[in-house]
This record gives sequence, C-alpha cells and structure tokens, in this order.
Amino acid sequence: MASTKIVNFIDGSFMPPIDGEYMDMVEPATGKVYGQLANSNDKDVEIAVAAAKVAFPIWSSMSASERSTLMLEIANGIEQRLEAFAEAESKDQGKPVTLARTVDIPRAIYNFRYFAGLILHHEDISTQIEGACSYTMQQPIGIAGLISPWNLPLYLLSWKIAPAIAVGNVCIAKPSEITSLTAHLLCEVISQCKIPKGVINIVYGQGHRVGNALTQHPDIPLISFTGGTATGKVIMQAAALHYKKISLELGGKNPNIIFKDCDLEVAVQNSVRSSFANQGEICLCGSRIFVEKEVEEAFVEQFVAATSKAVVPGDPSLSATSMGALVSKEHYDKVMSYIALAKELGGNIIFGGDRPSDLPERCKDGYFIAPTIITGLPPDSRVQQEEIFGPVVTIWPFTSEKQVVELANCNRYGLSASVWTRDIQRAHRIATHLHAGTVWINTWMKRDLRVPFGGWKHSGIGREGGKYSIDFYAEQKTVCFATDLTLQ
Ligand code: NDP
Repeated sequence: MASTKIVNFIDGSFMPPIDGEYMDMVEPATGKVYGQLANSNDKDVEIAVAAAKVAFPIWSSMSASERSTLMLEIANGIEQRLEAFAEAESKDQGKPVTLARTVDIPRAIYNFRYFAGLILHHEDISTQIEGACSYTMQQPIGIAGLISPWNLPLYLLSWKIAPAIAVGNVCIAKPSEITSLTAHLLCEVISQCKIPKGVINIVYGQGHRVGNALTQHPDIPLISFTGGTATGKVIMQAAALHYKKISLELGGKNPNIIFKDCDLEVAVQNSVRSSFANQGEICLCGSRIFVEKEVEEAFVEQFVAATSKAVVPGDPSLSATSMGALVSKEHYDKVMSYIALAKELGGNIIFGGDRPSDLPERCKDGYFIAPTIITGLPPDSRVQQEEIFGPVVTIWPFTSEKQVVELANCNRYGLSASVWTRDIQRAHRIATHLHAGTVWINTWMKRDLRVPFGGWKHSGIGREGGKYSIDFYAEQKTVCFATDLTLQ
C-alpha cells in the first residue's frame, strides 16, 4: 500500500510545506510508521494568513443562509465517506473503529449541521430608553486560529471550524501533529465543495512551530484552543501580547460520585464507560471514583467484573474491539509512569496495571495498556491530583455529602462531574456545590450542543456551545441612536 503523504490545505489547494520538511505518522496499534505529515512553520502560516485575508470579505459578506448551505455540503461530504473517515480516525488515533464510526465522525458531521442551522436563527436585541433606541448586531472578527488536540481529532477540530465560519470568519486550523489524518480527509471533502477558497485553511505541524506562529500572529485576532493546561498557559501568554480573544478548553480530573441509593447496576455500567471509553483519553472521563462507604465493596466487585467483561484491549481496526491503543509511545510511557507511581505510593492495583497479554500479532508493538483500577490511594496523592489521561482510575470511599464535595473539589481542575443517586434533592445539592463546568446526574457524556461547555479553575477559560460559541467567535456591536417621538 502506498504510504500516506499529507500536505497543507491553503487557499483551496493542497500545498507542500515551504521548507519541504515532513514528520512520521505512526499507527498506535502497531507502532509502525505509515505516512509523512507536513512539518510546517511560520512561513506556511504566513501564506495561509494571506489567503484567509482575501477570503474574508467574500465569505463575511455572504448571507447566513448562503454560508449555511455551503456548510451543509461539507457535512454531507463527510457523511458520504463516513466509513473511510472512521477507519482513518481509528488507524491514526488508536481508538476502536466502532467508536469512531458511532461517535467521533457522526459528531463531526453534526457539528457542521448544528452550526449551519443555528446561524439561521440568530436574534439580536433591541431596547429603548427615553430619547434613544439601541440595537445589537454580531459581526465576524476576521481570521480565527484553531488549535486542537489528539484525543478526538475530527470531533474537536470541527467543533471549532463550524462555529468559526458559521458567523462569517475565515480560519486557519492546526490539528495535533500526532493525529492529522482525518483533517486531511476533511480537506479532500472541502476541496470538492463550493465553499470559497481560503475560508478553511489547515496547516499541519508542531505546536511550537505552527501553533506558536498562529498565537503570535498580529493578524489573527482570535484563538480557540483545546488541549493540555500547561499549553493553555503558554497560549494565553502569547495571545495577551495582541489582546486576542481566546477560548481555552483544557484538562480534567473529573469526580464520579456513587451514592448508596443509586441504581448500582446502571452506575457500574456507566462508570466503566466514563473510566475507559477511548482508552480513558477523553477530557471528561471520570478518573476519580468516590463511592459511599456502605456500597464500596459491592461497587468494586461489580466494577471489576464489568470492566473485565466489557473492556478488552485488541486490534482497534476490528469492529468487535472495545478498547484500542494509546495515541503514542510518549503518552504510553507517561501513563505507565503513573501506574508505577501508584505502586510506589502504596496503591493497590486491583485490575490491569500492565500491557494486555493476549494482543494479536499485528499489535504486538502497539501502545496498549490494560484498563487499570487502583484503590488505597488518598485523594491528595499525585495519582488522584494530576491528569493521567489514560485507562487508569482510582476508587476512594466517602461517608457524607459534605465530605465527598470537599474531596471532589480538592483538585485544580474543574471540568465535569458525574453523580449517581435516586434522591433528586441530593443531586441538586451536590450539583450546586461542585466546582465544575458540567455536572451529569445519573448519566455521563450526554451533550446538548446548545448548553455552555467549558471548565472551572485550571480546566479552561470561556464557554463554547450554541449561542456561547457565537458570542465567542463573533464581535458584538451596539448601535444607539437618538429618537424624538414627538409628532411633527
Ligand atoms: P497539548 O496541549 O499537548 O496540545 C494541544 C494542541 O496544541 C496540539 O495541536 C499541539 O500541537 C498544540 N500546541 C502545543 N504547544 C503549543 C504552543 N506552544 N503554541 C500553540 N499550540 C501548541 O494537548 P494534547 O494534544 O496532549 O491533548 C490532550 C489534552 O487536551 C488533555 O489535557 C485533555 O484534557 C485536553 N482536552 C481538553 C478538552 C476540553 O474540552 N476541555 C477536550 C479534549 C482534550 P502538537 O501536537 O504539535 O504538540
């Protein structure tokens, strides 16, 4: 099979990087190089900025309905190639192809459809006071710089591109250098659509080169970033120099709280998902499980049994596989180092903790880690405090509402939380006191795209979703004019 070679997509054309540099693309399930990715730099970003500047007046002067129609064309184009996208996402990221087929790619399609619809229904406000009338209008800002991570590659890239262009901006996106394959397929789709050239530009490469060039460029007034908290700080500093508008969706170390009055079977099944879906590489995974003392033993027993049955690492390209490989060797080593730390700190690894033993021959050099369950490590230990971002969860008991809220909040992150209880008043009390951007009651990862999404504390700054995305990606303007209501 011919090796994949990915070049930038700028001004509606596929363009090799100016300096001709490339990086290896590695398949996580095999550890083998399967392609080459443009290793671009600030010169490539400069060309993209020039193309985007030409496209901006064309795109921003189109009506919302014209933009909406062209965005729907992109959604349909992805849908027509859904299987190819799903296979590519699985190969590039390591996730099970079934997950890509049922979650990642359908959500990317929906991101385009949702914002294509939302933009048609936008309402401005009008107010009156004595002697004056005011009305508001939203206007596009210009070039949006969009930087996305490797865990949900197309899902999060499209979560940025769709609202950015819906309001009339043009964009330059940089997917994670580790997972750029579906971004390339997206460019193929865009190149066959009627969307004007230069509206969506994708420049591939490393964060310290391409990402840095975007955040520091004076002609890119807006940066939307999803990724790690440490990178978020660097981006915030760079953006501050130009007073850029920024949205930061960062890391999480989310509590999953199980009360004794919950439907334990439902809580167990969902906790398996919230612990190990996508190999635990989802910012919303509930990696800190707190269980009310009276049901701790029953929960642990059922959770281990359900994990061993439902989460079996294997070749992610096979439809039956429920857990794939971690995204890279570097990330595999990081997750393994936390398992080693857990042992060192006296934690009990009651399940997993190592490479799975029965991987198929094709996957013997892949980056697989068995789902890992740890007990006996206190909430202030590093394993419970730091984001591991892999298939590793801790379990710790609690005895009261007050105590579990303190334990849950005692962490620098505040992205999301799940609470399992049949007592609606308790659910409401706990939700009120948790420091988190999203609290799920008796569910996990249900996303209504209209509600604000984002994190408290070190989990981010700003909110995206529905009108909150529109507010971020557009500038608001108030027009106030004097009125004289006296009849002449
Ligand atoms: P990183 O922060 O390492 O990278 C995210 C993106 O930023 C990548 O495209 C990266 O490029 C780029 N980047 C790195 N350095 C810079 C820089 N100096 N300037 C500009 N861009 C830069 O995150 P990961 O890719 O490792 O993703 C995992 C993280 O993302 C986790 O912490 C996870 O919690 C978080 N996340 C948060 C979500 C949320 O909604 N809150 C959702 C999903 C993930 P490169 O690949 O070259 O390093």
